[in-house]
Amino acid sequence: MKPIIAIVGRPNVGKSTLFNRLVGRRKAMVDDMPGVTRDRNYAEVNRFDVPFILVDTGGFEPETNDRLLQQMREQSQLAMDEADLILFVMDGRSGLTPADREVVEMLRRVDKPVFHLVNKVDGDKLESGIGDFYALGVETLYPVSAEHNRGIGDLMTEVCEAL
Ligand code: GDP
Ligand code: MG
Repeated sequence: MKPIIAIVGRPNVGKSTLFNRLVGRRKAMVDDMPGVTRDRNYAEVNRFDVPFILVDTGGFEPETNDRLLQQMREQSQLAMDEADLILFVMDGRSGLTPADREVVEMLRRVDKPVFHLVNKVDGDKLESGIGDFYALGVETLYPVSAEHNRGIGDLMTEVCEAL
């Protein structure tokens, strides 16, 4: 069995963009996995040092804050249950939100590697803007741009070492 990596985070932070970036052009969908939920996308990724299965969570945009938190709790729980490693994605443009904080707290209780990504760090200037994310008290933050393919190679080197 290949290890499973789950991408978790609020709507619009760039989870699907990161998913597509990591899967690359030849996107192999895994349709025959048991227990696959509709709102999740699975793909086999073989282009890094360690082959893995990637899961993109969350398919809809919740209307209310309560629904948002509920969706994020469900996403995180699923990821914690079935993944071997979690990529938690935040948005460097919109900054740190209460929902981010709550999920980070949930993920602290998981005995699995969790990587905290700050996405949409497209240019050098933005990199200094990730400062408020250090309030989360996590050891390492990974500034990335899924859209512009920045920070992804370094991230994946460390991810593969943790698998
Ligand atoms: P999801 O809801 O978390 O799956 O987010 P999406 O992948 O659908 O992306 C939401 C929006 O953010 C889209 O308009 C993307 O083009 C944009 N986006 C994703 N990654 C980046 C990035 O690295 N930089 C910028 N500037 N925008 C991004
Ligand atoms: Mg998405």
